[in-house]
Amino acid sequence: MFFATKAKGCLIASYRVVGLGKMNTFPTNVKVLQITRISANRLSCAVTVSDFVRKVECDVRRMAEINFVRIVSMPFDENTYVVYKEGLTSCVVVDPGLEPGKIVEVLKERKLEVAAILNTHGHSDHIAGNATMKELWPDAPLIIGWEDAEKLTDPDKNLSAPFGLPFVSPKEDATVREGDSYNAAEIDFEVRETPGHSKGHVVFIVKDGERTIVLGGDVLFKGSIGRTDFPDGSFADLKTAIEEKLFTLPGDSIILPGHGPATSVEEEIAGNPFVGRPAGYRG
Ligand SMILES: [Zn+2]
Repeated sequence: MFFATKAKGCLIASYRVVGLGKMNTFPTNVKVLQITRISANRLSCAVTVSDFVRKVECDVRRMAEINFVRIVSMPFDENTYVVYKEGLTSCVVVDPGLEPGKIVEVLKERKLEVAAILNTHGHSDHIAGNATMKELWPDAPLIIGWEDAEKLTDPDKNLSAPFGLPFVSPKEDATVREGDSYNAAEIDFEVRETPGHSKGHVVFIVKDGERTIVLGGDVLFKGSIGRTDFPDGSFADLKTAIEEKLFTLPGDSIILPGHGPATSVEEEIAGNPFVGRPAGYRG
């Protein structure tokens, strides 16, 4: 337990009264008066403790400061995420779906400009809103995994034709691959390739303070997994991708999937009936 005081974007986890050496947690009556020095994880400041002014050194933790807003598009219950840093006006839109009007509403409400459009993969329900985003924010680059880029402009491959409403998306501006780090709106998105549901599927991993958040697309869902019965799908590939790229993340990593509610790595390792311990996972 620690008393968290926001100080220049940091949480104060514990403190040491200078000269005494013992680490203490903050009692609730501590007020930070003045910060004299701040480094990666140390903070020197003057505080009042029970009305006495003391000089202390603190352990600090970076605050979580990135917002992830979920917008659900019908009829496939597809999740779009608007990702932005608190206090900034630029954002990233991940997988704009079949109801782009809803996304635009949220962006207008929060006065956000789109700095980039990221697609986890090229299936129609995840790319249908690309055109609207590009129309309104033509300078925002459209980014997708290198092996799924061809789906953007092919109604058969992006499954819009088989589902009865053929359409194409604007072409990508750049592709990403395993190990890339893509930066937009002052946020780093680490790219991991996760084939199985779609050959060129990627996930985007964001570190936010002590949190790890995965923009996961259609790989791992709460209690389920992405379909593997499409032409370039493979259950074996999907299982390997989940084991090697997701289950190796810290257990408390949050997965924001392309359909349904959020989950965590540890929850899916423990209970997922397709790839977790109930299915024989031993990692
Ligand atoms: Zn899909």
